[in-house]
Amino acid sequence: MRRPIIAGNWKMFKTRAETSAFFDALIPAIQNVDHCDIVVASPFTALATAVEEAEGTRVAISAQNVHWEKEGAFTGEVSVRMIAETGCTYTIIGHSERRQYFGETDETVEKKVQTAINGGLKAIACVGEVLAERDAGQAVEVVRRQVRQGLGRLTQANLSHIIIAYEPVWAIGTGRTATPDIAAEMHAEIRKTFAEIYNAAAADALRILYGGSVKPDNISALMKKEDIDGALVGGASLDPASFAAIIKYL
Ligand code: PEP
Repeated sequence: MRRPIIAGNWKMFKTRAETSAFFDALIPAIQNVDHCDIVVASPFTALATAVEEAEGTRVAISAQNVHWEKEGAFTGEVSVRMIAETGCTYTIIGHSERRQYFGETDETVEKKVQTAINGGLKAIACVGEVLAERDAGQAVEVVRRQVRQGLGRLTQANLSHIIIAYEPVWAIGTGRTATPDIAAEMHAEIRKTFAEIYNAAAADALRILYGGSVKPDNISALMKKEDIDGALVGGASLDPASFAAIIKYL
């Protein structure tokens, strides 16, 4: 049995004060929840505040990116040690906005995932096709390539430190959610790809989240699909009430 996980990605939203206010509202609303893991990915500047606010709760904190080098002359970048020092335990890697606007590739994803794991963080590694690729019938091929080239050379032991997020780019921030069937089909393809590279047991243990316009009113249908182990939630994670409602999808 894979434990479900609901993760929020705040993107470039929330100051430290707004982060405190968010947790003040979220924590009482999810007090009795124990059916899933919960993660919140805040901007770097709010990580320490988020960790402090989430201490003693079920919520783990994530960064949204990390550099692949341990340290060095990389102006504007943040290392795994800096992130881990805040008490943060996860980082998102290869989000489609990073791939689209900041030049991330399968190669940088591979380096970043390895560095994050080596530094003791769990990596939420994102894959997903753009609309033109889906319309051209290439969605499966694109995602299989992202898995093979970005994640396929990890050791099997490393797999227990990664979570996959399948995020079709056409569904992110657009209000156009993939149907549960479309999402589940791709999750099964991703799991099959990992089974080919590693083995069935390793692939079965891997948690694969769906991301793309997840809201309180569509989460339950997505979570009913066997291969969907949770959600990576952008816009709807910014409001504590809607994020709590998604967490309580049962
Ligand atoms: C995301 O940022 O990963 C995401 C899925 O965003 P949204 O839920 O807003 O589509």
